[in-house]
Amino acid sequence: MSPDSRQIVSAFKRLAMYWRAGQWQAAKDNGLNPTQGEVLQRAAAQPARASDLAAELGITPASLSDTVSALVAKALVTRCPDREDKRARRIEATDAGRRVAEQMPEAPEALQAAIAELGGDERGALLRAFTLIIRSLQEARAIPVQQMCITCHHFRPNMHDDAARPHHCMFVDAAFGDAALRLDCADHETATEEEAARARARFTAVG
Ligand code: SF4
Repeated sequence: MSPDSRQIVSAFKRLAMYWRAGQWQAAKDNGLNPTQGEVLQRAAAQPARASDLAAELGITPASLSDTVSALVAKALVTRCPDREDKRARRIEATDAGRRVAEQMPEAPEALQAAIAELGGDERGALLRAFTLIIRSLQEARAIPVQQMCITCHHFRPNMHDDAARPHHCMFVDAAFGDAALRLDCADHETATEEEAARARARFTAVG
C-alpha cells in the first residue's frame, strides 16, 4: 500500500472508530445493543426487506431475525407483509420506535458540526470519492449495492457543460453537482450492469 493510501485508510479507521463509539453509546442510552440500534435507525429511516437489511448491515439472516424479534418484543418495530414478494417481510418502525430512533443521531454532534463546516466544494469532493470507493467495493462483491446515484437507472453523469451542476437526475428532471450526489436515495431504481458501467465510465471521464 502506498504511503498516501495508508493515510487515507488511517483516516477511515479513526473516523469509523469515533462514529461507532457514538452509535454504541446512543443505543446503550436507549436500552438497546449496537445491532438493535442500527436496525431500528435503518427501519425508522425507511421500511426495508429483512434480507436487504441483513446484507446492508453485514450480518446473517438468523442474527437479523433475532435482533428484529427483540425489537418486536419491545414494540419498536413490526414485521409487515411485502407487497412485491409474498414470502418476504418488511421491517417497519412503530411510532414508539421512531421516537426512540430520534434520540439516536446518525452521527455524534461534533462530527455533524465538523461536516457542516466544510465548504460545498469539499463536500462535493468527498462525496465523489466515497461514491467511487463504495462502487469499487460493490463491483468486487465486498459490499451490497446500495441506493446511490452511480448505480441508478435515472443517473446521467456529466451531461451538462455547467461545472457546478454537470449531472442530471431523470427522475426529478434536474441538474445537480457532486455535492448533491446521493448514497441512500429512496427514489433509486437499480440500473442494469451495462447502464452502471456506462455511468461509471462517464462519471470518471471528467473531474
Ligand atoms: S433518483 Fe436518486 S439515486 Fe437516482 S439519479 Fe436521482 S437522485 Fe440519484
